[in-house]
Amino acid sequence: MRKVILATIGILMLASVVAAQQANALQTAADTLGAARIKTLQFTGSGQNFSVGQNYSPSEAWPPVTVKNYTASINYDTGSMRVELLREMGAVMPRGGGGPFFGEQRQIQLVSGNYAWNVPPPAGNAPAAPAQANPDGQLERMLALWSTPQGFVKAAMANKATTKNASGGTEVSFTVGGKYKMTGIINSKGQVDKVTTWIDHPIVGDMPVVTTYTGYKDFSGVMFPSHIVQTQDGFPSLDITVSGVTANPAVDITVPENVRTFTPPAVRVDSKQMGEGVYYLTGATHHSLVVEMKDHIVLVDVPNNVARATAVLAKAKELVPNKPIRYLVTSHHHWDHLGGIRMAMNEGATIVTHQSNKAFLERVAKTAHTINPDPLSTSKKGAKIQTVGDKGVLTDGSRTIELHLLKGYEHTGDMLVVYLPKEKLLAEPDAFTPPPQAGTPLIRPAIPFAKTLYDNIQRLKLDVQVITPFHGNRTTDVAELAKAAGSGSSN
Ligand SMILES: [Zn+2]
Repeated sequence: MRKVILATIGILMLASVVAAQQANALQTAADTLGAARIKTLQFTGSGQNFSVGQNYSPSEAWPPVTVKNYTASINYDTGSMRVELLREMGAVMPRGGGGPFFGEQRQIQLVSGNYAWNVPPPAGNAPAAPAQANPDGQLERMLALWSTPQGFVKAAMANKATTKNASGGTEVSFTVGGKYKMTGIINSKGQVDKVTTWIDHPIVGDMPVVTTYTGYKDFSGVMFPSHIVQTQDGFPSLDITVSGVTANPAVDITVPENVRTFTPPAVRVDSKQMGEGVYYLTGATHHSLVVEMKDHIVLVDVPNNVARATAVLAKAKELVPNKPIRYLVTSHHHWDHLGGIRMAMNEGATIVTHQSNKAFLERVAKTAHTINPDPLSTSKKGAKIQTVGDKGVLTDGSRTIELHLLKGYEHTGDMLVVYLPKEKLLAEPDAFTPPPQAGTPLIRPAIPFAKTLYDNIQRLKLDVQVITPFHGNRTTDVAELAKAAGSGSSN
């Protein structure tokens, strides 16, 4: 009995020692990193960021973009951060998607409390453009601010973190804003090695964002990592080698009035009839196509997010009343075109996709959405998926819809273009977006994509009279495509 009591006391003592060590880990980190005296912080570096959701295939890493300069300026007292990136792209983009640009591109992203916005870079001698509210970026940026080593320690102390032993050191966990979980590892030297947060995403749900810090050194009086690698949904999203850190610079970030008073405009879906029972849905950045079949609707793409998907599904049913949306064709797996996929699954539509997406979409149907539950997470309907190889056909006996895989297309390995033989109509996302003004040449990285689309139309011998692109503000045709692709004169 006595032995048991002693052993119990021993365990209790050990437990209290461990608890003290864990509490100490946070205090050691605060001391090591100078958390109390650092009110503002600026760090500079270079490396790469990555186009999240734009991989060539669902199992490949996100495509990289060179970051020539990365400067983050943080004010911990006001919960504000300004990140400025100078990015660079050559004439050929790395395989995969991402906003096409050529040469240098400056991005300025801010967050302060509940507001996030972007500042358009000055263009020539034009007057400064007003800040653009970006409410979608608020959570990610706010969590990025509190994921920085000093920020993490401050937030842990302010939010009554719990600690426990873990491999690599002490695991520190807490919740910010009453809702968002953060967990990190503090090593035996009092350095924050790794921070994990989760942000809500319409496709992949509670998406892990993991930031790893290595190579801590003294940057003129501040202990800071020399290498920062962040992953989103498992693939690197940011990789920065830090070259300089400044403690307590002046960082004054005020929320612009137009950002403070911003209310998102109502979702707008415009429709244009392209033939009997064929409607081209536009009104925002990403378009869709509705095809009426004998007893059902085929919809191509539910892009962006839940709000747009809801409006697009409603518009399809308004245009073609009393018929169910039985098939949702998803052109490709890039997240900007897939944002409403779970709404289509919830609608009960069979998802038609290239075979290389099947596993990814099965995962998407099951991902946890606890941060911001969506209808599918409540209905738990799951997904019906129908796959296509090089060619797929949807038919009701009289109308035929052909789906063709674009070959040799470096933007994505699974692009299905949609061809309606009766209307001689081709719907295509991304490969060719006609410039607002006909005759304006494409930017250089967009030319090979246009050429690929043109070559595929020739290879498949498609008789195309009209192209409905899923971006841009107008329809186009093969003659304009050929010219843009630089193929006009030789054909
Ligand atoms: Zn794409």
